Amino acid sequence: MGGKMGRSYSDRDLKLLFGKSGMFCAFPACRTRLLAPGTDVDDEAVLGHIAHIVAHADAGPRADATFPATERDHYPNLVLLCRNHHGLVDAQDSTYTVEQMRGWKDELEAWVEERLTEGMRGIQFAELEIVCRALVTGTAMASSAMSAVPPQEKMAHNELTAASSHRMTLGLMQAPQVAAYLQEMATRVDTGFPQRLRQGFVAEYERLHAEGLRGDALFFALGDFAFEAAVSADANSSDRFDVRAAALAVLCHLFEVCDVFEAPAHVAS
Ligand SMILES: [Zn+2]
Repeated sequence: MGGKMGRSYSDRDLKLLFGKSGMFCAFPACRTRLLAPGTDVDDEAVLGHIAHIVAHADAGPRADATFPATERDHYPNLVLLCRNHHGLVDAQDSTYTVEQMRGWKDELEAWVEERLTEGMRGIQFAELEIVCRALVTGTAMASSAMSAVPPQEKMAHNELTAASSHRMTLGLMQAPQVAAYLQEMATRVDTGFPQRLRQGFVAEYERLHAEGLRGDALFFALGDFAFEAAVSADANSSDRFDVRAAALAVLCHLFEVCDVFEAPAHVAS
């Protein structure tokens, strides 16, 4: 990420930053999307810069020697900006203050949630199809038992906190439509479709879990995984919040009905 790769951000902080920002620049009214989808010959590319609100160094832009050094590289002190706006805020650090930048970050995250909420109201089978077809891979294996743990209990078990609860509630609004869509696909197209969808998620869950991701960061990473899969399959989806919402709905449906999130017993098995 620009010249900042040397900094040691945790995966957890990055997943929260990327997931909550929707990968948009936080500078007011910029909203440039900071992720270029992969192409046939290149991987996806992160174009954004991770900017520090309070400087990483005691002498950097917006430095504050009283702000604990151990907290400077964590999610609450980080904001995603495009290259231009990162350059601007660091060059004019008296104009663009810590308080302003915290405000921009809050506004961007609220804007993403609002757009996602609007998108969630409008999703139909067409949007679910973009997401599910992109995620379904391989051949169905024997079906495993579905668990019936209530979402609240499951959230606690999976270390999901208030940071995830709005998106979980939002996604669960359309979980019945996801179930109806998967039923339709199983009946009319391919009986193994729901199981193959689940397997795609479980594989990604296990990969991220093995990397040490847990809780909210894992939840956001899985939502982004589903959305980026859809964007890879259909580049026109990259600016569509209804497709983003569909990805979230699919994730929350799986959270509700199957054992995607049933760590750690599931992963150990
Ligand atoms: Zn920008």
